[in-house]
Amino acid sequence: MIYNNQNNLDLMQKFRKTGHFPHACLFYGEKGSGRKTLAEYFAKTLLCTGNSAPCGECSACRKLTKHVHPDFISVEHSGKLQGFSVETIRSVCRNAISAPNESNYKIYLFSDCDNISISAQNTLLKLTEEPPKHVVLLFTAVSKEAFLETMLSRMMQIPVNPCTPENCRNALLAKNFPPEKVSQAVQATGGTSVGMALQWLNSPEMQEISRQVKELTIALAKRQPYAVFQLLYQYEKSRPHVEMLLSLLLRQIRDALALKYQNQNAETIPIQLLGCETSSAALLSKYATTGKLFRMENAIDNAQNALQANVSLKLLLSALGGALLYKN
Ligand SMILES: [Zn+2]
Repeated sequence: MIYNNQNNLDLMQKFRKTGHFPHACLFYGEKGSGRKTLAEYFAKTLLCTGNSAPCGECSACRKLTKHVHPDFISVEHSGKLQGFSVETIRSVCRNAISAPNESNYKIYLFSDCDNISISAQNTLLKLTEEPPKHVVLLFTAVSKEAFLETMLSRMMQIPVNPCTPENCRNALLAKNFPPEKVSQAVQATGGTSVGMALQWLNSPEMQEISRQVKELTIALAKRQPYAVFQLLYQYEKSRPHVEMLLSLLLRQIRDALALKYQNQNAETIPIQLLGCETSSAALLSKYATTGKLFRMENAIDNAQNALQANVSLKLLLSALGGALLYKN
């Protein structure tokens, strides 16, 4: 199910009807916003043999859903940063020349391109500039910045909207989760990704991390270094847990900033809080200055980059703790 992207769905239907469409597209937007789902939807509209594509029932649609369609190739990641090796790209370029196996197109999906190297892009440039008529190249990334200008100028750039908390709530209710749990999941994950909310509902670990983030927010508000480091170091063994911790903590700090802004302005501005726990965010907004909150936001941003670059978790967490607690 694709939420909050009707404009993009309409666009792809138009591509199918007119037969005119870009042969290289970049779907970009935040993690969990459904970039890959949209790219696959596009692939289905091109390969489906039913009357109203994607019909979901024809052989092509069924193969695509199972990821076994021979003309839809999900290009393999490699290396520490999960980019694409030059060798992989060369083999894509060789393979792209030959005709499709059983449809009119050959579609290549390069997912999560945020760490695509310059050499990989240079190797891909010629294919992107002059693809054979049957070739469609689909890319997904958090931001366009991962790409060289020469690549970007050859791609249609399609922003993907995250779902709204309301979309998220309805999607979870439709899956028969109890309303009370659904509210907690939407609150804890910000409600911008159904996938993340589902993960939260199905993972006691993630639920535990949101409880710990509340404790961490309180310890930061009260400036308790021992408690802050103790909370952070629990995660030194698990990269996915650190990723989750950082994304939840970032939302808490943004909420604290939003609350501060609201308190400083006489008229009441309706704000939407996205963090996992409001009372601790309110406490933090009371004790930290605006400048301090911006620096905390920056510290988390640095930690997220370090995580991408595969820095040791212990080092990352101790740098983060230091930066979050830094005096001014
Ligand atoms: Zn179909």
